[in-house]
Amino acid sequence: MKVIFIGAGPGDPDLITVKGAKALNEADVIIYAGSLVNKEVLAHGRKDAEVYDSAGMTLEEVLAVMKKAVSLGRTVARVHTGDPCLYGAIQEQMDALAQEGIAFDIIPGVSSFLAAAASIKREYTLPDISQTVILTRLEGRTPVPEQENLAGLAKHGATMCLFLSVQMIDKVVAELRQGYPEQTPVAVVQKASWPEEKIVHGTLSNIAEKVKAAAISRTALILVGDFLGNDYQRSLLYHPEFSHGYREAKQDESK
Ligand code: SAH
Repeated sequence: MKVIFIGAGPGDPDLITVKGAKALNEADVIIYAGSLVNKEVLAHGRKDAEVYDSAGMTLEEVLAVMKKAVSLGRTVARVHTGDPCLYGAIQEQMDALAQEGIAFDIIPGVSSFLAAAASIKREYTLPDISQTVILTRLEGRTPVPEQENLAGLAKHGATMCLFLSVQMIDKVVAELRQGYPEQTPVAVVQKASWPEEKIVHGTLSNIAEKVKAAAISRTALILVGDFLGNDYQRSLLYHPEFSHGYREAKQDESK
């Protein structure tokens, strides 16, 4: 008799959490974001569950379905792509439910920026390269606060993951060039973890053409930074000359 928000993961139906899959299996009503959630994820749900695709619904319609189901003693699974805390429009749903006195829980999911790192087999946080990951987007119909403009963020030289922006790749590159050097590596990953996943590697100077040549115009992340290069210092965590709470440094016998 409550609503459970579930992060469906990036696409691969095995990348939902065990807890998320169990909750989906217990739901009487499933409302999923059809534009992005892989329909195969719904196979974790019961055959007799009532299923709604929220792609063609307004917030009010989604809330009405939730309210009615809960009043009939049913459990509702609200399925969002990746993790719902990123560009999920989940806050307005939670606030409305709280106002109605309807209980809800959230089960996190594997965000697409995590799946994309796995696809390209890279670590975002390399010592000496960047210890910061900026998750952002270019302004679309949804505004971005002025102090977070992309050119300004680019000046930090940090690892950056851009959501919802690949369709404006020329503008993205123009803004990024105001902060990162031309030769900064960029990877674009479309549909990470889906069978039709596409990966394009380049630099700020050529990634726009490569993205267009690959016909990538949606459901992709733009990953930017020197973490994509090969020049970095190894981590101290596993370095023999570095001690920490769980391991003493090895004595250097040559000294
Ligand atoms: N909550 C989601 C993001 C929703 S916004 C998450 O945590 O991933 C939708 C945007 O996410 C898309 O425009 C795209 O930029 C990105 N995205 C979602 N799934 C993706 C995937 N499998 N591969 C690459 N990018 C993806």
